[in-house]
Amino acid sequence: MSTSERLIAASEARSAHNYHPLPVVVASAEGAWVTDADGRRYLDMLAGYSALNFGHRNQRLIDAAKAQLDRVTLTSRAFYHDRFGDFCEQLAELCGMEMVLPMNTGAEAVETAVKTARKWGYRSKGVRDGQAKIIVADNNFHGRTTTIVSFSTDAEARADFGPYTPGFEIVPYGDLAALEAAVDDDTVAVLLEPIQGEAGVLVPPAGYLTGVRELTRRRNVLMIADEIQSGLGRTGATFACEHEGVHPDMYVLGKALGGGVVPVSAVVSSREVLGVFRPGEHGSTFGGNPLACAVALEVIAMLRTGEYQQRAKELGEHLHHELGVLAGKGGAVREVRGRGLWAGVDVDPAHGSGRELSEKLMAQGVLVKDTHGSTIRIAPPLVVTKEDLDWGLEQLDAVLRG
Ligand code: PLP
Repeated sequence: MSTSERLIAASEARSAHNYHPLPVVVASAEGAWVTDADGRRYLDMLAGYSALNFGHRNQRLIDAAKAQLDRVTLTSRAFYHDRFGDFCEQLAELCGMEMVLPMNTGAEAVETAVKTARKWGYRSKGVRDGQAKIIVADNNFHGRTTTIVSFSTDAEARADFGPYTPGFEIVPYGDLAALEAAVDDDTVAVLLEPIQGEAGVLVPPAGYLTGVRELTRRRNVLMIADEIQSGLGRTGATFACEHEGVHPDMYVLGKALGGGVVPVSAVVSSREVLGVFRPGEHGSTFGGNPLACAVALEVIAMLRTGEYQQRAKELGEHLHHELGVLAGKGGAVREVRGRGLWAGVDVDPAHGSGRELSEKLMAQGVLVKDTHGSTIRIAPPLVVTKEDLDWGLEQLDAVLRG
């Protein structure tokens, strides 16, 4: 039995089976590459679902974390700490917003956005008590809490987790007319992913986000962009909303905000919206902790250079060109979607499921992950070299050709 096999058996024996990982046991990592417990190397083309936009163990982030570890790591919000103010100011500035409410995971930030929108609805908009409605899209993925799965359309994510939280209406993604018809006087927010990641990297029709912005402004409804996966450089811009020149009322951020080092998430919005909170109404012991702020401050500084967005744009154009060539060969690839260094590739199920394809790619030294049957997602760290990306795509081509 190899070391990896032994470690997998131990994990399977004692952990809940709420995931179905590829059979690779990562023991170390650097940049776009990981090494398993038996010394085999793999190109990481998933990047922790975009949490590793800056690569594994990015030196700037590791240095920032180490320096902070030597000073102070946790205060709780019972006290102030010396990184908090800078973090909030600089994140707000990066987002073109005024206020920040920090949390830890993506789902917590989405929950925070839901609470913020409801409270804003009652206190600012004058919505009837207990009637606040939030409109979401079908095929959404916003996390795994009981409230969030209540408005999921994925049967697997929902089944057996009821009773479900009321107050949400689901409309088709990309359908502006359906959204307009759903907005009523009790509507406080529209919550959307500007590109749906888990659904298979679905890009909405051109003009959709602009339309949502115009509609929400006209009806005094908050536009909440869940950029937990799409944001912070992945699509070739700081935020995916920017591709349509849209500035939402609220950004929900996570994943890459912690640089793949620590969990950091946040809701970022205006003073009018986030100003609704009073002490005691919301919080988190770890939210906005010194270590999180130190790493996130470095992430923000890196994003301010624009270098990573530019890289994602250029390498992304190359990636989509090459995937287009693959699709054009008329073989296994049915459709390619995405933006920047982010692609969803639908494969003809006759050539195997997404899972089978991911396992074959793994055998070739490339890590991707399937979603929804026969789709694989490609989202390497933004620091991947063009040569490594090309090598990964060659492996994909070889696997698809069988
Ligand atoms: N929102 C989006 C768009 C996501 O892609 C994810 C995770 O994949 C989440 C929310 C949930 O984040 P977390 O897993 O950190 O709770």
